Amino acid sequence: MKNVLVTGAGGFIGFWITKSLLERGFKVRGVDCFLPNYPKIFKIQNIKELQQNRSFDFREGDLNLLDLMNLLEGIDIVIHLAALPGVRTSWGEKFEEYLIHNVLATQKLLEACKKTDIKLFIYASSSSIYGDNPNIPLKESYLPMPKSPYGVTKLAGENLSMVYYRNYGLPCVCLRLFTVYGPKQRPDMAFHRFFKAIKMEEEITVFGDGNQKRDFTYIEDVTEVLMRIIELKPEGKILNLGGGHTISINEVLEIIGDITKKKFKVKYAKEQKGDVHATLADTTELSSITGFVPSTDIVDGLKEEWEWIKKIY
Ligand code: NAD
Repeated sequence: MKNVLVTGAGGFIGFWITKSLLERGFKVRGVDCFLPNYPKIFKIQNIKELQQNRSFDFREGDLNLLDLMNLLEGIDIVIHLAALPGVRTSWGEKFEEYLIHNVLATQKLLEACKKTDIKLFIYASSSSIYGDNPNIPLKESYLPMPKSPYGVTKLAGENLSMVYYRNYGLPCVCLRLFTVYGPKQRPDMAFHRFFKAIKMEEEITVFGDGNQKRDFTYIEDVTEVLMRIIELKPEGKILNLGGGHTISINEVLEIIGDITKKKFKVKYAKEQKGDVHATLADTTELSSITGFVPSTDIVDGLKEEWEWIKKIY
């Protein structure tokens, strides 16, 4: 049970999950096609760093085009993170790419996994499947009502995973991740953009009035949960993976001011279609299954991300 396939290993979350698995003695096969949704150099550097460990084997390619039976050879566990992320860019013509990478690739991978005897398939779902439900904290039992095309594709991937579980007994677990942050966060995500703007002495752009609230989840909490899920294999479960507290963007900016000790200008731009007003995960089921409550303090997590940003810009 030591061979894991991580799809999207070059990405933000994929990098940290892979690193964590390698540190725990797993053998990891990573796959990534280096989508150009943000500068590929971030992803290439992540893979180069992981390749310093001999237990890491990397295959470059698109899940839609690769020989998946070959990719899955000898694999016990699949952690499926590969996707085209981002709510705001999922409208219009771009949607086709979201379908290809988030839905079709997931279906092809599940279809291939069905022919193997893998012991666990973890699908990285998203809080975006909930949409603008005012009844927070959000419980897994709530009716999903995505507000963005991206959310629709993540929900489709989740549903597909459960379809393969119900029909073929493929041991799937879906984790609904709530806005993840920390070092190596994607450049299109808010904290990364804010810190970068401060470092470059540029204006910060906030979409909306800044009163929107998010449940931010620190990357180390995500990796810790993943490790427990691998150990416990709660197949058939759909679980929220959130930090368990919510904070507004304006409050975050105050903390960022304290951490960076810099003055900065904020421009409030029009609210973006697809953005929701508030997220907060109910993590009762996650903690009853894993015995773990994500608890990294936002101030500590933001300090770590700032330290990283200062090094790269
Ligand atoms: P990321 O873009 O940094 O990583 C995704 C990686 O998948 C990229 O390196 C990309 O090149 C690769 N990829 C995409 N399509 C592929 C394909 N067809 N074949 C091979 N590789 C492919 O994104 P991330 O922030 O690390 O997110 C990882 C996963 O977690 C995604 O599924 C995302 O939907 C989910 N998620 C992330 C967050 C978050 O806050 N970051 C929140 C909820 C859910």
